Amino acid sequence: MKLNINENKCTRCGSCEPECPNEAIFQTDDVYVIDTKLCDGCVRYGTPLCKLLCSSNAIHEIKDSVYKKYLGLRIFN
Ligand code: SF4
Ligand code: SF4
Repeated sequence: MKLNINENKCTRCGSCEPECPNEAIFQTDDVYVIDTKLCDGCVRYGTPLCKLLCSSNAIHEIKDSVYKKYLGLRIFN
């Protein structure tokens, strides 16, 4: 499972960043993003911690097919 932050919903509160056990969440100039190479969906906890704690409901699972398409685009661009 991979996750993504919807920048239109994210209030930039920063709560998720320090809670990620894999340090997969970081802030760029103005947005928070999840590094999908580091995110393992919190498998050891049974639920994505960041999604659980985000009060803005800004963190969503990426559907596998969409994720693969995204990877394909990154490979070829
Ligand atoms: S907890 Fe939610 S609203 Fe706050 S920075 Fe993270 S994604 Fe954005
Ligand atoms: S699901 Fe877990 S590992 Fe992935 S970004 Fe969220 S807190 Fe980090």
